[in-house]
Amino acid sequence: MSGIVYLIGAGPGDIGLLTLKAVELIKNADVLVYDRLINEDILKMAKKDAELIDVGKFPHNHKVPQSKINEIIAQKALCGKKVARIKGGDPFVFGRGGEEAEYLSRKGIPYEVVPGITSAIAVLSYAGIPVTHRELSSSFHIITGHEWEGKDKNLDWEVISKLDGTLVFLMGIKNIEKIVKKLLYYGKDPNTPTAVVMEGTTPNQKAVTGKLIDIPRLVLKEGIKNPAVIAVGDVVALRDRLKWYENKKLFGKRILLARTYEQSQQMKKILSKEGADVVVCPTIKITPFLDNIVKFLEEIHKFDYAVFTSVNGVWSFIEAVREKRFDLRNLSIKVVAIGSKTAEALENIFIYPDIIPEEYTSYSLANVLKKHADGKNIALLTSQIGGDILMESLEDCANVQKIVAYKNEPNYELKEKLISELRKGIDIAVFTSSSTFNYMYQLIGDEINLLKNSKIAAIGPVTKKAIEEKGFNVNIMPSEYTTEKLIEEILKNHQSL
Ligand code: SAH
Repeated sequence: MSGIVYLIGAGPGDIGLLTLKAVELIKNADVLVYDRLINEDILKMAKKDAELIDVGKFPHNHKVPQSKINEIIAQKALCGKKVARIKGGDPFVFGRGGEEAEYLSRKGIPYEVVPGITSAIAVLSYAGIPVTHRELSSSFHIITGHEWEGKDKNLDWEVISKLDGTLVFLMGIKNIEKIVKKLLYYGKDPNTPTAVVMEGTTPNQKAVTGKLIDIPRLVLKEGIKNPAVIAVGDVVALRDRLKWYENKKLFGKRILLARTYEQSQQMKKILSKEGADVVVCPTIKITPFLDNIVKFLEEIHKFDYAVFTSVNGVWSFIEAVREKRFDLRNLSIKVVAIGSKTAEALENIFIYPDIIPEEYTSYSLANVLKKHADGKNIALLTSQIGGDILMESLEDCANVQKIVAYKNEPNYELKEKLISELRKGIDIAVFTSSSTFNYMYQLIGDEINLLKNSKIAAIGPVTKKAIEEKGFNVNIMPSEYTTEKLIEEILKNHQSL
């Protein structure tokens, strides 16, 4: 079987700017070969057994040389692999994608090119700068800012300086002084509006604007660094009115989510949409205990009720059902979910829970069960540390058997990452269960005080209490204990966060 290389443009940063075609190819690739400026969430799309090769790293300060990259992608394809060669922006806009395609073509290796959204346009869009405008600019010109490094020595600065359209420089930060000097030397108006936008389309986006002649000084003063796009032209003046991304409610706020990656996805999506920089650092590790669930399925006729106390229980249950090829038509018992998220997870496999308490806590769940399940046999699918409240409350009225559906433990692997993320500074730390907080404390001990200057959001009273017991203030808690309401509350109070 012959392999193939896809030269894929991954856009400028915001993962939402990936094309549908790119996503599909990345998901199916056997090997991902990627550059430095790639959003790391892209890598999470890869197949479980895909090989990830970082060619943007700087071992001993050396980038993997282009010739070596060519060899890697060719060799992997020759082994029959589907290779996703992922580049920032568009692969053919200063991405050396052309050279890679030439190499592959010379070797007779099949390849396809998947265009990406180039930073030259998108970063300016996110800064509120339209590259063209009926009244202000009828063309735009994308120029390397790198030519002093001995590349692209064919730029005619006299011509460039006379162009009326928007000038867009990539890779220009290091040489910004030289670029401005050249433009001024050849007659560009020193008052021409100019912008430099760094880390565009990401929550770290930062822009400076000013007159062309002042821009090198402003860049230095504001600490603008690579990667950044320089735009020179009258359209830049529109930014004051048109900027939008930086006006988002949570723009630039670093928000820590401490629950598992899977469970964080939805919250992350919504918070990112509001401009937040969402750091997912699970303090909790979930390991399904499939054997216990399988045993429960084999004895299902002994029970009247199955109670799920979290999404994790449902996900573990689903894994066991799949592995055992258990036919859900045999699930002839009543099903209880502690809250709407757990219910939703069940509904995804077409199990519509018979009971969901009005308030999503163990206490209200116990109260509802007391009413409905008197004298019944109840299977409580929970973690090794869960279910105490329910067991105690129902002791006298029902026969409750705890099925340890999954293990819930501190995620020791993430200890170092957690400390380093906290050191970078967190604006809002979000806790969706007391264990996510308690495990954080277990993992990092007193380093948890790094959160002293952060605002803290808790999903409900039990979590709030656990946090307060360790001497922290909880600034945000919704009146209904769901992640949706928690996010709503964060957005409502964004000005004070
Ligand atoms: N193929 C890429 C460009 C690669 S050259 C594209 O089409 O966008 C790398 C340069 O791109 C950087 O030096 C910077 O000028 C620009 N760049 C890439 N991503 C950027 C971002 N998120 N914000 C600002 N500039 C970016």
